Amino acid sequence: MKKLAINGGEKSVSHNFSIYNSIGVEEQEAASKVVKSGILSDFLGAPGSNFLGGKYVKKFERNFEEQFEVKHSISVNSWTSGLIAAVGAIGIEPGDEVLVTPWTMCASAISILHWNAIPVFVDIEEDTFCMDPEKITEKITERTKAILVVDIFGHSADMDPILAIAKEHNLKVISDCAQSPGARYKGKLAGTLGDIGGYSFNYHKHIHTGEGGMIVTSNDEYAEKCQLIRNHAEAAIVAHKDPDLTNMIGYNFRLGEIESAMGIEQLKKLDQAISSRQKAAELLSENLKNIEALSIPIVRNDCSHVYYFYAMKHDENIAGVSRDKVYDALIAEGVPFISKNYQNLHMLPMFTEQQCYGTKNFPWSLNDGVRYKYGSGICEVAERLNEKEYLGIFMVGSNFTDTEINILGDAIRKVYSNLDELK
Ligand SMILES: *Cc1c(COP(=O)(O)O)cnc(C)c1O
Repeated sequence: MKKLAINGGEKSVSHNFSIYNSIGVEEQEAASKVVKSGILSDFLGAPGSNFLGGKYVKKFERNFEEQFEVKHSISVNSWTSGLIAAVGAIGIEPGDEVLVTPWTMCASAISILHWNAIPVFVDIEEDTFCMDPEKITEKITERTKAILVVDIFGHSADMDPILAIAKEHNLKVISDCAQSPGARYKGKLAGTLGDIGGYSFNYHKHIHTGEGGMIVTSNDEYAEKCQLIRNHAEAAIVAHKDPDLTNMIGYNFRLGEIESAMGIEQLKKLDQAISSRQKAAELLSENLKNIEALSIPIVRNDCSHVYYFYAMKHDENIAGVSRDKVYDALIAEGVPFISKNYQNLHMLPMFTEQQCYGTKNFPWSLNDGVRYKYGSGICEVAERLNEKEYLGIFMVGSNFTDTEINILGDAIRKVYSNLDELK
């Protein structure tokens, strides 16, 4: 029996894991070509050919459409901007309710509040951490207008039942696929199954351009509205005869030419980025599969996982030791990229206090007499996972070698083989 590092034993990880840098000479050359041209952005916030941006923005979008098998791609300066544009484009009204999960990055819910609509949280499935289709119907009211589904950690939510519920209740579906570009659900690409989807290109995501994002849709009207919201809708709409002014309040959500030129190169590397993460995750799963108190990620039938996070679950009843104690022991062993918490957005003060715009509970105040409940108890699975079970390894920032994966696996197995030392 080896003594655990937390009890003074030797640390099992001495290896220095390097942070993977996917920006290579291709991106450097693409960026420098744009810099040399002097045209770093070629957008104009007015009707005309520059309304849709410059040469690299357009090329990035057309390449994206081809690779993602979608009719329209609209680039944006972040996926937060993309989510805001998407929620606006589907015609959400102040006071409408939009269903979303709490187990996601805050922008998923904030994009709803942005249009003075109200996020209503639906609990998650405990094996995929995505929205649980069984928990949706109980949250639908006459005010519900859309479902914002998040394909969290690189694996799709169970879209078939979700789309069926949406159809039955006449709800729009937006897919937040910031963490899952290239993942497939029954043959189809994540982000392309609902009305609008999209991806993030921030520094931590599979494709990165510093900051950036891409909206995808097969709906012509939504595509145009996203283009308008991206670029000062209120001004550009004057060129339309008989304009539909719904949510035509615009921003500057435009992606630059440098980022677009780099995005074109990054897009070519996506398949490779995905397959190296899948290979690493499969090797890690092979390594960890026989630990009784630890569940490894599942991949649903006929789906693929692109492993933004490698999400595990600890069972304290089997282990006889809490997740937090195991986490501390893993940190002491030197296990890199590991975390024990994700998001429970319904616990944020903004929601428990129902205050964000000013001081008078707007926009919840729009629905006089409706009592919205946030905080502890409304999403029990998400709460339990966060408090007691979740353990995740961040996969994207590094390009693990087989040796590194085995070092990680050995360190985790060392802790789980010596749980008695933690009791
Ligand atoms: C990263 C992320 C976003 C926001 O993307 P940005 O490009 O950083 O604005 C939204 N949703 C999820 C699930 C994310 O992981």
